[in-house]
Amino acid sequence: MANTPAGRLYVVATPIGNLGDLSPRARQVLEGCALVAAEDTRHSGVLLRHFQIATPLVSLHEHNERRRAPQLLARLTAGADVALISDAGTPAISDPGFELVRAAIEAGVEVVAVPGPCAAIAALSIAGLATAEFSFLGFLPARASARRRRLGELAAEPRTLVFYESPHRLGEMLADCASAFGATRGAALGRELTKLHEQVHRGTLGELAALAAREADVSRGELVVLVEGAAVAAADAPGGSSSGAPLDQALRVLLEELPLAQAARLAARICGARDNEAYRRALALRATSGSQ
Ligand code: SAM
Repeated sequence: MANTPAGRLYVVATPIGNLGDLSPRARQVLEGCALVAAEDTRHSGVLLRHFQIATPLVSLHEHNERRRAPQLLARLTAGADVALISDAGTPAISDPGFELVRAAIEAGVEVVAVPGPCAAIAALSIAGLATAEFSFLGFLPARASARRRRLGELAAEPRTLVFYESPHRLGEMLADCASAFGATRGAALGRELTKLHEQVHRGTLGELAALAAREADVSRGELVVLVEGAAVAAADAPGGSSSGAPLDQALRVLLEELPLAQAARLAARICGARDNEAYRRALALRATSGSQ
């Protein structure tokens, strides 16, 4: 029986906003494959039509990946080249694809990367935080208690932390980060990268939490949150040895950005203090420093 050589599984990165970021090689591979497996065929149909790529699309998303993977493997082992893409960026990075990649490796199918955009790497490359080592955490748990527990586990992590976050949770997430890591820990927020309303905010966690609380626009669109690792900021973390109580430190930062009552409420949340205690301290600090 003549053996047909197996096809290849190409894992192809696609733009995270700017269509100019689709690489010439990615385009060539998408054109040349027998099939494109996409997270959302309607969404990716727009991309393929834009580049006049007529390759048929099949869906591969988190709900059908286990069922779909064997079907795609059958095509691959029969000799077809298959491209895997997600809605944006690099497949299998907080996106479907891992199961198919693993199944292909186990079946002896060659898996080839066609690298390109990835929001986490794009944000890290411009955040101004240490890049020699970093820890990618994807999305934090949606439930506040689980999120705070996870952040507590990460408080001593010395590498730069990289998170994806959704717009409606950003404010809470930044306040929780300030609480878990200390309001003076460095951070950055990459928003709508490569798109029309692209923005990068850099500052302390307290400043970014205050900014998100003050300006609704900061939370709009797609977001990457980066936090400085613990080694450089350990002394500033809650329970650390820096000068001044954590509540006062948080208040000093927040009073520069927010009205007193709002600063006090946020500082109380960050430091686990009572609202009225934070309010009293805020009044005292304003009286001594002349802050707003
Ligand atoms: N696989 C993708 C990648 O390589 O970046 C990530 C997919 S994940 C489901 C989507 C999340 O990535 C968004 O919620 C946001 O946190 C982040 N993201 C995607 N595009 C972005 C952009 N243009 N700017 C900032 N963050 C982005």
